[in-house]
Amino acid sequence: KLVSREFKKEDSVIDIDGVKIGGGHFAVMAGPCSVESREQLLEAAKAVKACGAQFLRGGAFKPRTSPYDFQGLGVEGLKMMRSVADEVGLKVVTEIVNINDLDTICQYADMLQIGARNMQNFQLLKDVGFTKKPVLLKRGLSATISEWLNAAEYIASGGNYNIVLCERGIRTYETFTRNTLDLSAVAAVKELSHLPIIVDPSHGTGRWQMVRPMARAAVAAGADGLMIEVHPHPEVALSDGDQSLKPDNFKIVMDEVNQILKLM
Ligand code: PEP
Ligand code: MN
Repeated sequence: KLVSREFKKEDSVIDIDGVKIGGGHFAVMAGPCSVESREQLLEAAKAVKACGAQFLRGGAFKPRTSPYDFQGLGVEGLKMMRSVADEVGLKVVTEIVNINDLDTICQYADMLQIGARNMQNFQLLKDVGFTKKPVLLKRGLSATISEWLNAAEYIASGGNYNIVLCERGIRTYETFTRNTLDLSAVAAVKELSHLPIIVDPSHGTGRWQMVRPMARAAVAAGADGLMIEVHPHPEVALSDGDQSLKPDNFKIVMDEVNQILKLM
């Protein structure tokens, strides 16, 4: 298989318009769960940039569990992502939920995120595989590592090798945390594949208090990067406020991550 370590021994380095991930290059994607307003996004972007993040994350098209929850600002949100990221000096990573939006999202984003709920949306995987756009492929809610790597294979088989995997927790019997963050997936993926893998301790735990220790652990486990939700005012967030860090706590996480990276 194209994504397997057997096929390619050296770690892949994915270059997202000048920002590298993998093979010793560490990258951080941070920002709000959802793009809510230009003010909110700009405040978040300035904060994460100041702490050393390379990517602004934010959802414009949101795959919400309930149809009555905030669904995102759509194209308006994409435009905000682009203009705020350019203003502050960050790359844009944002989720695609519908293949019909592919061209539009490619126009505004540097990296396409395929969310947990779409990890086995095979048509979506095939279609992004026919582009050269870097893809962040999140692990499915209950996907095995093998299923996840097969999802990556769908993208690679179309000719797009610019894939970064993202462990974001899986469903288990535990309910205290939103998901069970599977950090062993980092070591497993390193064994099985040459693709970079980052960790999302925000969705992986669902609790902002746990993001800091799990971010440290992810780096120590050998992750190539982190995705962290940061909101200037989590208490009024339209989605995932409980797991979003305030900028001051994100700064603490980044300082600790950088200390651990020096030891790696
Ligand atoms: C997200 O990153 O905003 C998101 C919806 O994550 P996941 O697909 O991992 O649930
Ligand atoms: Mn979220």
